Amino acid sequence: MRKPVIAGNWKMHKTAEEAVSFAAELKQADLPGEVEAVICAPFLALPALVEELTGTGIGVGAQNVHFEQQGAFTGEVSVPMLKAAGVTYVIIGHSERRAYFAETDETVNKKVKAALNGGLIPIVCVGETLEERENDQTKEVVRKQVKAASAGLSSDEMKKTIIAYEPVWAIGTGKASTAEDAEEVCSFIRKTVADQFDQQVANEVRIQYGGSVKPENIDSFIKQPNIDGALVGGASLNAGSFIQLVQAAK
Ligand code: PEP
Repeated sequence: MRKPVIAGNWKMHKTAEEAVSFAAELKQADLPGEVEAVICAPFLALPALVEELTGTGIGVGAQNVHFEQQGAFTGEVSVPMLKAAGVTYVIIGHSERRAYFAETDETVNKKVKAALNGGLIPIVCVGETLEERENDQTKEVVRKQVKAASAGLSSDEMKKTIIAYEPVWAIGTGKASTAEDAEEVCSFIRKTVADQFDQQVANEVRIQYGGSVKPENIDSFIKQPNIDGALVGGASLNAGSFIQLVQAAK
């Protein structure tokens, strides 16, 4: 059985102080142990979140990382730095980073390898643009991204990796995919992993859906056999709604 993961992606929202208030609300909530809950926050809020959430079972993640361990990379943060801060997860290849910060399949692969080598759990984002969907290229695009991101990983590394299927047109737009379409693509991603690794790895890898998930629609996604949770942007900014999402995923 795969454990569902609900990961909040705060993007460029919340100060350390705001993160502490959010964590205080989470700690009051009755969160189900059978769901992995993770908050992916801006770098500056991570130490405060780690301090607040250690021992609660709620994980803390970053939203990006550099693939080198250290060096002349002004403005970047490395895997050892995140590990030293007590971070456990990192989002890699979010479509906003691919679109605005020149993230490529190649850098995504380097970052995934660096994260796994350094003991972080990568949440790797893949997904088609609206134009690609309209041109019937969804599966081709997603297969290419999944294969590139996981190139050179061992089976054990792949099993630890979380894939987030996020159709770009559904992110932050309020227009979620239908659960059936998301299931079709997530099932295709699992098949891609089976072709690249083997069926056992594919059975174990967790695949989230992301794109305008909120408390009102999460049930339809969670019910799908190949969807193991959600990566959530907007609806993760409010503690009450994040708590509802985690509770709905059990
Ligand atoms: C995201 O940022 O990964 C995301 C899915 O955003 P939203 O939930 O706001 O669509």
